[in-house]
Amino acid sequence: MIIVLKPHPTPDQIQHVLDRIEALGFIPHLSQGVSRTIIGVIGDEEKLQVEPLLAIDGVEQVVPILKPYKLASREFQASDTIVEVKDIRIGGGHLAMIAGPCAVEGEAILTEIAESVRDAGANILRGGAFKPRTSPYSFQGLGEEGLKILRSTGDRFGMPVVTEVMDPRQIELVLRYADMIQIGARNMQNFDLLKEVGRTSIPVLLKRGLSATVKDLLMSAEYILSQGNKKLVLCERGVKSFEDSTRNMLDLASVPNVKGLSHLPIIVDPSHATGRPDLIPAMARAAVAAGCDGVHVEVHSCPEKALSDGPQSLLPRDYARMMEDVQALADLLGKSIDVCDGVSV
Ligand code: PEP
Ligand code: MN
Repeated sequence: MIIVLKPHPTPDQIQHVLDRIEALGFIPHLSQGVSRTIIGVIGDEEKLQVEPLLAIDGVEQVVPILKPYKLASREFQASDTIVEVKDIRIGGGHLAMIAGPCAVEGEAILTEIAESVRDAGANILRGGAFKPRTSPYSFQGLGEEGLKILRSTGDRFGMPVVTEVMDPRQIELVLRYADMIQIGARNMQNFDLLKEVGRTSIPVLLKRGLSATVKDLLMSAEYILSQGNKKLVLCERGVKSFEDSTRNMLDLASVPNVKGLSHLPIIVDPSHATGRPDLIPAMARAAVAAGCDGVHVEVHSCPEKALSDGPQSLLPRDYARMMEDVQALADLLGKSIDVCDGVSV
């Protein structure tokens, strides 16, 4: 349910509404826009009566949110959310260019990759330290050692860093090193993990599950938002389908679809979506044209030696070429790509 306040409410009026909602046993979520103040009420709406709420001083309207996701919905917040990862803005016309290897493999190789993607215009460095591999015999990531390398390399090139957590027990450790936490496709419905990450204040990158609908994705977003963490970015990374010439099926329609349904930024990962370097640049361009808030690409300077996802990794020179096109498209669409020192180009 959304409680819309009359224009220019006083702080006392706002506080009084918040207190009343809490007294009724519900959790209020305040959203103060430039022209409007609205309060989302989360809980069993059946138990909430509209009439007494309308009688509260300063309340203009009480509207039920019919969608199962509330805080993630456009009804709750009309304006685009802009998530800041250090100095890099994502959403509201600002594109995140996240790039790096699938896994952190060592300092020298990450340095080489980070320098190349930063020079090409990437503004966030990625690299997994805890890897969700299909086989327990595959490389599982360097753990804390990988986090240390990611942090120091990010610092060296002035890039914020994002890395995956797979388990609530890893969160405390990862918070010490990362600027953004990734929740991978396989964990999109690990609800305990979502809740735990929702209790932190670090920006979160939530990837769409392998067989998740857009609604499922937004419900998972709701788990994080409802715990208080509003710094949330969604990621379309393809879904399972009958097509077997690509790794997954990139659902580009989900971009405008999510944008209509939600205020949250959504970026696209054409690497895991296609699994094919020859298709990634075209899908990156298409994603930007579709209105996404960023592109996430795996890059490796020597894909044949990569310990994870080598076959889908773009070479640095191909990433640089892709970025030229993305930048041109961004210019055309009036979007900006923050550079690592925080200056917008
Ligand atoms: C990854 O980003 O390396 C990854 C494992 O992605 P996903 O969870 O989308 O498969
Ligand atoms: Mn990967």
